[in-house]
Amino acid sequence: MHDSDLRRLRASQRRSPWIHGLPALRPSRSLGFAFALFFFLGAGVAAGALAQTATPSRGPTTAYGTTPAGGPTLATMQTKRVPSPLAAVLPPQDLNDLPAWLEYRARNHLADLPLEARLFYRRGLMLAQSGNRDDAVRLVRGAAELDPAFIAPHLTLASWLLLREPSQALLQYASVIDLGRQNFLLQNALLGNTLTLAFQSFFLALLAAGLILLGLRNRELRHALAERLARFASPTTARWWIWAILALPFVAGFGLALPTVFFLGLLWPSLKAGERAVFVGLLGILVAAPWAVGSLDHLGVPLREGQPPFHAVPLVATESPSSDRQQQLAALGRRNPENPFLQFAAAWTARRNGDLPAAAAGYRRALELWPDDDRVLNNLGNVLAMQGRTDEALEAYRRAGAVNQSNAAAAFNASQIYTQRFDFRSATEALSRAAALNFDLVKTYQSLASDDGVLPLVDQWIAPRSFWAALSAERGEASGRGALPPAWRSAIEASGWGYSTAALLLALLALVAGARTHRAVPLRTCNNCGAIICRRCACRRRETALCPACAAVEARAETPDFGRVLLLQHRSQLRRSRRLLRTALALLIPGYGLLSFRRVVPAVLLLAVSAALVAMAAGCGTPFSYETRLAVVVQEVPFAVQVGTWVAIYAISILGYFANLVRADAVEAAQAAPVRSRIRLSRHDQSALAA
Ligand SMILES: [Zn+2]
Ligand SMILES: [Zn+2]
Repeated sequence: MHDSDLRRLRASQRRSPWIHGLPALRPSRSLGFAFALFFFLGAGVAAGALAQTATPSRGPTTAYGTTPAGGPTLATMQTKRVPSPLAAVLPPQDLNDLPAWLEYRARNHLADLPLEARLFYRRGLMLAQSGNRDDAVRLVRGAAELDPAFIAPHLTLASWLLLREPSQALLQYASVIDLGRQNFLLQNALLGNTLTLAFQSFFLALLAAGLILLGLRNRELRHALAERLARFASPTTARWWIWAILALPFVAGFGLALPTVFFLGLLWPSLKAGERAVFVGLLGILVAAPWAVGSLDHLGVPLREGQPPFHAVPLVATESPSSDRQQQLAALGRRNPENPFLQFAAAWTARRNGDLPAAAAGYRRALELWPDDDRVLNNLGNVLAMQGRTDEALEAYRRAGAVNQSNAAAAFNASQIYTQRFDFRSATEALSRAAALNFDLVKTYQSLASDDGVLPLVDQWIAPRSFWAALSAERGEASGRGALPPAWRSAIEASGWGYSTAALLLALLALVAGARTHRAVPLRTCNNCGAIICRRCACRRRETALCPACAAVEARAETPDFGRVLLLQHRSQLRRSRRLLRTALALLIPGYGLLSFRRVVPAVLLLAVSAALVAMAAGCGTPFSYETRLAVVVQEVPFAVQVGTWVAIYAISILGYFANLVRADAVEAAQAAPVRSRIRLSRHDQSALAA
């Protein structure tokens, strides 16, 4: 399996038995890059992009912003002794030359080039926008190669290749899952975005369903109001008053949800079970909104600069190290000596800057706070190895392996030390163990240890488990609505417990008022046209009750039979226009047709999926970012999939409507048939009587 790797490792070791390497990213170079990038992006655009993201800006070293990625960020060894003939290869001058950069990374044994990877990624996105898909794929692939822990290119490639090369797309998704398992920021963003999207979609879907129901039931609502107003105003004046009363709450600044809940509450007695569920669901979401906002806020804690216990440490993993940043983290660590995250982050940055004593001290302090953390032990071992204290390093690796049997990095690093000591038997054993645990890791690092004898050591970033444990233990005060999508920050629905209490009280008030009105003025429908009538305005004709309009139509006829014909004519005219309007709306609005037949659950689901699609297209459904946003629209859901989903939504909505329409017509025809035969029978009886 990895025999050739082992052979190559041994061969390389014989040539050069020294552990060496280069800083993953030198501060001076990264600063130069930052400026280049800043010019490239345009300061305004970059600032806009950073303002949009939920991830706060970080240290002053890069204009490009945060590059959070986390995971076992691969890093090469710092050096004390660099063999002169194999000294550093200078970075390419041309920012367009991807092969040169890949070559530069390989020659210098750099585990990652985060800034350059993001530059090429962004360029790939821009090329894709201009239609040059092949070059775009090449650049994005290159970006994934320049920074192996960089997840966004894999997602982008997967979405581009999904329809053309599904197997390639699946491989990219597999990489995303693999990287995501080690990436706290991705997990956090996934959870936060799922929560936001689900909550927001169901809120919007229930609100839309509620508004549609109010539209469908507006005659009930208006009639009850009209009867109450009739005491004070003439019917014509009352009609205008009613529209004003119904419209006013919607434009008065209470948002749309509160009036919808109120009017649905008033309608409660005449609603069917499914329609009542819309009222209950909408009210439930309004009451639970502060909890949801609080949860999002809580998930935003790890990303906030200056907020304990994280102090935005999750973002440090892929930052370009600089001495400024190192000083800053060290100072924070001294001020919070009990915070293991800060100790770890300070040590991590110090190690990448080549400040080995500071790194060792930081890791030792982190180890006191996190006793028996295999990752701290492993990283401490690396620093000790670089200081030449290989016995202590081996002991640290051994402890790491004992604490966590599945830690491949510690086994791999130990094999490097054994190799350096020419203890090839132990080296092979350790390397086999590492390869059995994580073959990809060994392969990646062996490729870095190319033919000039460099032995890389694997550093490990803080485990997602540690972040989650600290986050769930964290009970800090809420910092407001910063984690919300910008569109929601000013929304009254997200304003807190006051609003929720008001919604609850208003809903109760509406239920009581609706029940009392219903008891005082029970509503029923006209037997002919289905108009809403009450005891007061109904015109009784023997066993039937007609609305005033139908009664007027009937009054024009001189015989009961002709009256019946006129009524039927009147009814079919009314129904034709109503059906036309309903069909038009059912074709336009997903779920409308189903709601008009009281199919509430499928309608709400269709509306929720539509809301999610709109939110994603508008970019306001996913406030959490695991990456710096790039001021370029990234289509993470492929365009074809979005179009397909819309087609499916409309197909289900429209076909469902027509299926219900056909069924309703059939039921009505079946009901009408015996009536007709009864009428025929009665005529027969009459003629029989006459005879
Ligand atoms: Zn009528
Ligand atoms: Zn009435």
